[in-house]
Amino acid sequence: MTALASTAQVGRDVLLLGAATSDQTPQRACPPEVLARHQDILSIPAPAEGWSGAPQAVDVFGVLTGEVRISHGDRVICGNMHDARTRDSRFRAGVGMVVVPKAGEREPIVVSWATPLKPRWIPTVRLGAPSPVQQNDTARLLVRAACIAVAIALALSALMGFATARDRTFLYYVSICLVFVLWQAVLGGLSGYPEPWLPVHDRASWWLVGLTAMVLALLLPVLWRLNGGARLWPGSRNGQRVVLWALIGAGLCVPWLGVTGLVRMAAALELVFILGCIACLGVGLWALFKRDGYALTGLLALAPWWILILADAAQAQWLTSYRIEALQLSATWFLMMAAYALNLRLGRLRQQRDEMRQLADTDALTGLPNRRHGLHLLARHLERAGAEQQPLAIGFLDIDLFKDINDRFGHDVGDQVLVAVARGLRGAVRVQDDVIRMGGEEFLVLLPGASHGAALARLENVRLQMASVAAPLGIAGLDVTVSIGLAALRPGRDDLAGLLRRADHAMYRAKRAGRDQVCDGEQPLTADDPLIA
Ligand code: GH3
Ligand code: MG
Ligand code: MG
Repeated sequence: MTALASTAQVGRDVLLLGAATSDQTPQRACPPEVLARHQDILSIPAPAEGWSGAPQAVDVFGVLTGEVRISHGDRVICGNMHDARTRDSRFRAGVGMVVVPKAGEREPIVVSWATPLKPRWIPTVRLGAPSPVQQNDTARLLVRAACIAVAIALALSALMGFATARDRTFLYYVSICLVFVLWQAVLGGLSGYPEPWLPVHDRASWWLVGLTAMVLALLLPVLWRLNGGARLWPGSRNGQRVVLWALIGAGLCVPWLGVTGLVRMAAALELVFILGCIACLGVGLWALFKRDGYALTGLLALAPWWILILADAAQAQWLTSYRIEALQLSATWFLMMAAYALNLRLGRLRQQRDEMRQLADTDALTGLPNRRHGLHLLARHLERAGAEQQPLAIGFLDIDLFKDINDRFGHDVGDQVLVAVARGLRGAVRVQDDVIRMGGEEFLVLLPGASHGAALARLENVRLQMASVAAPLGIAGLDVTVSIGLAALRPGRDDLAGLLRRADHAMYRAKRAGRDQVCDGEQPLTADDPLIA
């Protein structure tokens, strides 16, 4: 056998890789210790008139552990599902061989394998012309590979979900996907394709049982939760934890089990799975009865597992021949349903976050942006005004003698006045303007794009409109007036605090000048100004 020297020639329009080989056949014969474990032997006899002389393909599926031996006369191969190098490259999902018996020959084709762990997990042997047998084999390989690809894609998308939502449930989901990927890889033999990438060797049964325990540890609590178990019965969280850790513990013990222990563990896991599915179905139906709409997702996730359980009990032939694909498709469906539930959760989290942000940014009484959010809005307007060289003006507004209104008419009327002023202010400005409640009876009006003169006129209009805002309250003697201080942005000279300070000073000046007026922050302070005095 010549080792493949990797020679690469870069020609004008071709890249040739690899080298000529003297390797006759990639298949190998069975070691005697493997043969010793082969108690199950199937002899496929030639037809009554002998073989026709046409090539016969034999493909063996569902031998999850150990090697499969196929022989015809002195042609013998021994293939392992978890090591594609030992197998005929024409067959990838099963272990197969093409034999060409001479016409009229009667030599049977003999297939043997080690007794499977579970009595119903019997192999399927397909016999026929090479082309259709190969096509069936390839179709199975595609389904197996696609299921693994979907699990990987879902894991990546959940990882992105975690990056945006920082919710640990996404990481839990990613770990489920990864365990499912490993389990499917061992179940479907892709752990050995194209090169063995998991150290399965001849311990496939141990890998399979151990990973099955891990899969159940993650699957059952999720099915329980999807079916509404945690919502209907919050105390079940402890039970879920017990199931999770007991199954993980069982999975970790598997490497130390002997064959008998492994057979018992496989049977126990199957029982746990069936009991788990019964419990989840019960709680899902109960949740649905209680009109818990989310439980529908759980029941849908559970459906294919129930189909498998019932088909297994009925010894359905399709399940025997397509068991691996059926298990993988059920797992994929489960992962998709769980991803759907995760997306619903992400939607709810986003909604909650938006609501909380809305609450944190809004003044509860008037519904206007509060001081914190208002300053943020002002900073944004300042930035834009600077970048686009646009004017910006602000008006600082304070209700005159508001304490008196509270004292005379009561705090409730005071509140109604605040609401009426807020509504009046919103109605008096343009959509692109912002009105903010800065606290107490003080408001801030942001007028982006308004020049000094335009802002003065607009604030004057606002002041006039305020006189009528309290009218709908119908309270005799209730007069509302406001004092407003205007500050127009002086590019390069004002920062946020400076602009606010000028507007605030101007407002105080309006107060001192007799209230119910707009005062301009551009006007220089005079020596008799009370702010200076
Ligand atoms: P000035 O014209 O000088 O502004 O006089 P003023 O009475 O409006 O000013 P002052 O700052 O003395 O009074 C503001 C009052 O606003 C005091 C406070 O009790 C009242 N106030 C603050 N927040 C609220 C509120 O949410 N609801 C009600 N009803 N009153 C409030
Ligand atoms: Mg005040
Ligand atoms: Mg006031």
